[in-house]
Amino acid sequence: MKSAVEVSIVIPVYNEEESLANLFRELWPVAENLGRTFEIIFINDGSRDSSLGMLYDFYKLHKEVRVIDLGANFGQHMAIMAGFDNVRGEKIITLDADLQNPPDEIPNILKEMDKGHDVVGTYRVGRQDPVFRKVASKCINKLTNRIAKLTIKDYGCMLRGYDRRIIEIINQSMETTTFIPALAQKFAVSPIEIPVAHREREFGQSKYSVFQLIRLNFDLMTSFSLVPLQIVTMAGMVFSMLSFSFLLYMFVRRMLLGIGTWQTLIEQIFEASGFMLSGITLLSVGILGEYVGRIYRSVSKRPRYSIRKIFEYGAEEDE
Ligand code: UDP
Ligand code: MG
Repeated sequence: MKSAVEVSIVIPVYNEEESLANLFRELWPVAENLGRTFEIIFINDGSRDSSLGMLYDFYKLHKEVRVIDLGANFGQHMAIMAGFDNVRGEKIITLDADLQNPPDEIPNILKEMDKGHDVVGTYRVGRQDPVFRKVASKCINKLTNRIAKLTIKDYGCMLRGYDRRIIEIINQSMETTTFIPALAQKFAVSPIEIPVAHREREFGQSKYSVFQLIRLNFDLMTSFSLVPLQIVTMAGMVFSMLSFSFLLYMFVRRMLLGIGTWQTLIEQIFEASGFMLSGITLLSVGILGEYVGRIYRSVSKRPRYSIRKIFEYGAEEDE
């Protein structure tokens, strides 16, 4: 049987050849000095650069390193899910590979977990990202918290700690598109958030474009609530009420005050209601489509990711 360890460190990697050497140089001493048994799980999320080769070297040097090589690029969150499905640790830490989350915060997270917190979140102080992203994510954090009924200070910071129990629930829930910190928060009994330092991405580029960020956040909202659907219903109601009042007003104006001709009245009504309706329709179709897409995905039960190979100590090798 595979032996359990105290701490699992889970790191998704997508084209991070420029960061990996530095990451490992910083992470390794931190892990060794934890005074606990540990494993480091790297998930190679379909990198097209030399990341996999570098991870393979780490694995060759240290039996604590395991590398899960995915068959394609499944995205940061699915990569972490692949890691979660394979963790052996009692406490699980997630971390980005780009060194934006300082590894030396790991002992602080574990300290909070020792006190009994089952989810330890972090929020970035002195966040080193472009102003546009900082402002945008502040607004989105607020909105998402309201809609999803959560209280997470900083959704973007992946340096987090989870108790094994939480990870097991997450693994069971088999969600296809999900936001791990939010999901964990839903199941947490005693969550806490601590501040961590945040650094600039030194090497390479953010793997998210503006478009992907919008998608990610829309995903976050629709995964955790039906409010967007209800907003559409509400908007539909408000708009039909408005157009009805408008209609009434024009009618009364024509009847009592004799302003305008019947023809212009009818034209105006058609124009106004047409505009409003097409707006609402488009919005509704988009949001409905999002939910239907989700249903389709979970009905089709497609695996969330595919693993090409796991490199780990004790597994037979055929290289
Ligand atoms: N990542 C991944 N798959 C992807 C995109 C990103 O595994 O499709 C990893 C990436 O290598 C990094 C982490 O997820 O370790 C966060 O990505 P990034 O730094 O680009 O996101 P940002 O910090 O800009 O939000
Ligand atoms: Mg980053």
